[in-house]
Amino acid sequence: MVYFRLIFVLFCISFLSNAQIKKEFSYNHIVGKSNYFLNKEPKHGLIPKVADSFNSMKAAAKLDGIEIIMISGYRSFNDQKNIWNKKFLKNELNGFSVDENIKKIIEYSTIPGTSRHHWGTDIDIVDGSYNIDGDVLITEKFYGNGPYVKLRKWLDKNSHKYGFYQVYTNDKNRNGFKHEPWHYSYAPISIDILNLFLELDLKKIFISNKIMGASYLDSVFIKKYKEEFVLGINSYLKIKK
Ligand SMILES: [Zn+2]
Repeated sequence: MVYFRLIFVLFCISFLSNAQIKKEFSYNHIVGKSNYFLNKEPKHGLIPKVADSFNSMKAAAKLDGIEIIMISGYRSFNDQKNIWNKKFLKNELNGFSVDENIKKIIEYSTIPGTSRHHWGTDIDIVDGSYNIDGDVLITEKFYGNGPYVKLRKWLDKNSHKYGFYQVYTNDKNRNGFKHEPWHYSYAPISIDILNLFLELDLKKIFISNKIMGASYLDSVFIKKYKEEFVLGINSYLKIKK
C-alpha cells in the first residue's frame, strides 16, 4: 500500500512539474511565434535566465582575453521562414528537385518552426577580438590557424560551468546537421523545451504555414527528421543531469 502511495505521489510530482513547464513555454514560444521576446531583449531576445548566464560566461572569457560576441540569439518563425524560402527558391532555380532541395537546405538550416533559435536558449558566438566582417560562422575559422581556435578551446573547457553546451558537435557518430562549433545551448532550460517540442504535430505546422516543399515533408520524413536532426545533438542536451 505504501509502495502504491509513493508511486502515486511521484506521478503527481512529475505531472505537476510537466504542467508547470507547459505553462511557462507555450506552443507559440516553441515554434517562434511568441511576442514574449520582442519587448524584453530587442537585440538578441534570450530568456532572461539564459541572458544572465551568457553575461557571466562572457565576463569570465574576457578575463582570459576572449571577447565573446553573439551573432545570433532568438530567431522568429518568420525569420526562419525567410531563410528557408530564400534557399529553396535559389536551389529551385539551380534545377534541384524538391527532394534534393530540402536535403541541401537541412545540411545547416532548420525547417521553420523547428529551429532551436526560436526558443531563446540558443546562441551563435564568435570571438570579437578579431574582425567579424562577412560570414564568420564557418567551421574552418574554429580549427587549425583560424581566429576562433582560442574561443573553441576555452568553451570546451568552461561553457558547461555556465550551463552552455555545443549542440552540433564534431562527434562522428552524430546524425543530422553538420558540425557547428559556434552554436551553444543553455541546457537547464532547452532540455525542457526540447521535450515539449517532440510532442508537436510538425506536419500540421508545415502545411498550415505554407512552408515551401511542405508536401514532401510527410510523416516518414518527419519521423526521420526528429530522430536524426532534432535529436542528432550533444547528449548533454537531451538528458537532465
Ligand atoms: Zn545557430
